[in-house]
Amino acid sequence: MNFAFVSGNPALDLAGTVGSRRDEPTDLLAAPVDLERWVAECDELPDGVTADFATFESALSLREAIYQLALDRVLDRPFDPRSLGIVNDTAAGPVPTLQLSDTGLQVSGDLAAVLAHIARSGIAVLGDPHACLKECGRTGCTRIYLDRSRGARRTWCGMDECGNRVKASAYRARRRASMTRAEGRGNEAP
Ligand SMILES: [Zn+2]
Repeated sequence: MNFAFVSGNPALDLAGTVGSRRDEPTDLLAAPVDLERWVAECDELPDGVTADFATFESALSLREAIYQLALDRVLDRPFDPRSLGIVNDTAAGPVPTLQLSDTGLQVSGDLAAVLAHIARSGIAVLGDPHACLKECGRTGCTRIYLDRSRGARRTWCGMDECGNRVKASAYRARRRASMTRAEGRGNEAP
């Protein structure tokens, strides 16, 4: 399974590494090596970060806390205090170093710094009253994303991930229905 970075925010993307949360959750971060790969693939995070088991566990608890708070935002209810504690504590740690050179931007830091950065990104989006957070419209996806589209008209977390799948299955359903109708007509007496 490939990671998707479609939520518009690294904290929401981290929360999205668990899919189908309400039915049969699928966890893309089964081991520290998966987290290393996720960090390497996430644009704004340092390369070559290693994860030991303890920091991996902290990453998973940060992830679940972010998801809980994002869900609280989507459902317009007060934030879960325990999750607030985890996110705020993680955000207080040292963050990655940014350096500008002619080759561009260089981001460096260890996994603890990465988690602090993710927690801060999460706080920024969850604390922004104008941020439009939505749950993906595909039944069972459960990914929460930041809708930055004009008029906030976005329905899916990502076209490749969900939008095209929903459209394709709706097309197949329409085709089946019209074929059934055609067969029905074929059986009618002239
Ligand atoms: Zn989706």
